[in-house]
Amino acid sequence: MRLVLFGPPGAGKGTQATRLSEKFSVPALSTGDMFRAAVKEGTELGRQAKQVMDTGGLMPDSITFGLVQERLTRADCGDGFLLDGFPRNTVQAELLEAHLAAQDTPLDAVLFLEVPEAELLRRLKGRAEQEGRSDDTEETIRARLQTYEQETASLRPFYDQRGLLVPVDGAGGDADSVFTACLAALQPV
Ligand code: AMP
Repeated sequence: MRLVLFGPPGAGKGTQATRLSEKFSVPALSTGDMFRAAVKEGTELGRQAKQVMDTGGLMPDSITFGLVQERLTRADCGDGFLLDGFPRNTVQAELLEAHLAAQDTPLDAVLFLEVPEAELLRRLKGRAEQEGRSDDTEETIRARLQTYEQETASLRPFYDQRGLLVPVDGAGGDADSVFTACLAALQPV
């Protein structure tokens, strides 16, 4: 199973990614986690990532795609993968599409977690209090939602045109019921 999971910040991508990756026995690859790991390691990439993440913007496409491309060549992706947080714009989506086409391993589906903005704000503020992520301050949350609207929302028509888009109501109950809805939506795939 080769899947992309996307949706606005706070939609529950991380939670669903963990469950879906277990269910389909494929690794969950989160570019956000890759950048957070680089920040922790204190590398040059991490320094740049911290600046970008704290302002709610996006890392450069070439750097981000480079990380993903390298990760996809590892053996554990042989039977598939679940991408969480990548692609984030149509440039990245086109890079991914070309890479996968060259390997003759196209995507099976793109799950889109839909959640209304008021609910996203509520969840992100709650997460800020619990996890203390440095990009969960009120100002950064607003900037990240704006980045989503400006950059990432365009993935919806992009994947819809390709017949890959699988929308799921990400606000229709707790994490378990959203997971059930994801599996039901993926049934025909
Ligand atoms: P996430 O955990 O997916 O919300 O990602 C946290 C932050 O990492 C984002 O706000 C971006 O600054 C950066 N990031 C994650 N994925 C990408 C991506 N595909 N392209 C560019 N920046 C990204």
